[in-house]
Amino acid sequence: MRGVRKSPLSPLSPRGANWQSPFRKGRVRGICFRAQHDFDETLRRCFSALALGFAVLSSSGCLIDRIGGAYTREPEELESNASIGARRLIELAFEGIESVRLVDYHTHIVGLGTDGSGAFVSPRTKDWLSLERWKFLVYSSASGIKNLVQADQEYVARLARLARASSRGGKYRILAFDKYYKPDGTVDLGKTNFYIPNEYVFRLTEQYPDIFLPVISVHPYRRDALAELENWGRLGAKIVKWLPNAMGIDPSSSLVDPFYRKMKEHGMILLSHTGEEQAVEAQEDQRLGNPLLLRRVLENGVRVIMAHTASLGSCEDLDDSGEKKLPCFDLALRLMGEAKYEQLLFAEISALLQFNRMPEPFTTLLKRQDLHPRMVNGSDYPLPAINALIHTRSMARAGFITDEERAQLNEIYDYNPLLFDFVLKRTMRHPETKQKLTASVFMANPGLEN
Ligand SMILES: [Zn+2]
Repeated sequence: MRGVRKSPLSPLSPRGANWQSPFRKGRVRGICFRAQHDFDETLRRCFSALALGFAVLSSSGCLIDRIGGAYTREPEELESNASIGARRLIELAFEGIESVRLVDYHTHIVGLGTDGSGAFVSPRTKDWLSLERWKFLVYSSASGIKNLVQADQEYVARLARLARASSRGGKYRILAFDKYYKPDGTVDLGKTNFYIPNEYVFRLTEQYPDIFLPVISVHPYRRDALAELENWGRLGAKIVKWLPNAMGIDPSSSLVDPFYRKMKEHGMILLSHTGEEQAVEAQEDQRLGNPLLLRRVLENGVRVIMAHTASLGSCEDLDDSGEKKLPCFDLALRLMGEAKYEQLLFAEISALLQFNRMPEPFTTLLKRQDLHPRMVNGSDYPLPAINALIHTRSMARAGFITDEERAQLNEIYDYNPLLFDFVLKRTMRHPETKQKLTASVFMANPGLEN
């Protein structure tokens, strides 16, 4: 049913450009605002239409799998069963890559706490009328979770299989994820989308030392923030992950200065989300993704990796009066262009190939070869496994890949979505100049390893 090669042109076909979301507002509106004579009747119709839609969706794991994990084959079978063309493309992707230095700076761990770790997701994901629920099901499908009672174990087991299947080495920096805290230091669980404890990430790293490296997450407003940094720093943590828009962190706040000093003391690096974050509703929190807010971190001498290179949304130009809005990406490029940040600031490219971020800014980054020595790769897994997010057909039409490469990439996705992400980024070329990302982007960056 879900085979990439069996139905490559169906509207829900994996990697298709014409994929249409079943959640499109227009369709729901169409049901709700047609032929209404009285309010009760309208409500009744709306709810029964929604209930019917949800019932169809829930009985049809197949549809969720088309949107989410539309793969049909086992990762271990790729080497023996994939076409010669697909295997050749993989070989080409690994050319120039030193396997001991191959690294992914942005791999998520998903957890419900089924492993006793204390991880959790927002209770909204249990509400069948909430979009969060449907997103959660799509993520679960993409991550290969079949049984929610063992969700955490299944997530990790699948990720480990994907990571090991290519047998070419490579490390994955797995991310902890802290809760939302208010400036007074108290936690706000209502605004916490999910939580992955540092202990859990460290435990997984010990269990899978051949593939995982830990990235901790400590909210700087926590009352025990400095002690946490100290503790994990002594255990060897090098990178701290923030998603300011979703965690309520203002990186430019003077409250955070002691935190930066502690990071500097331990030679720690901040991996911070930049640009818009779609899971965030509150506008006052959305502005926290502005890359210019990171100036304060840099001024404290702490190295920063801008996750997603601010590739989504518009941000206030805080260097000017703040009234003018520019693409957040332009502001990220401005920071990258400042000589004083040359040793401190790095750009990470996860999520840039998602359809809503293409063709810019990725096209610009292909051309900006001068920035490649300060660019690093991240998969943002499990996102590349979500079928609906990456449209290889549009990429082929625009000239980033050939039709033949597209077929081979779709085939690789069918076996191993994590490998697909890597090979796709290695294959993409500028439609006119034919420039590609240099191999160094995919290897441990010397400026981040000391
Ligand atoms: Zn991410």
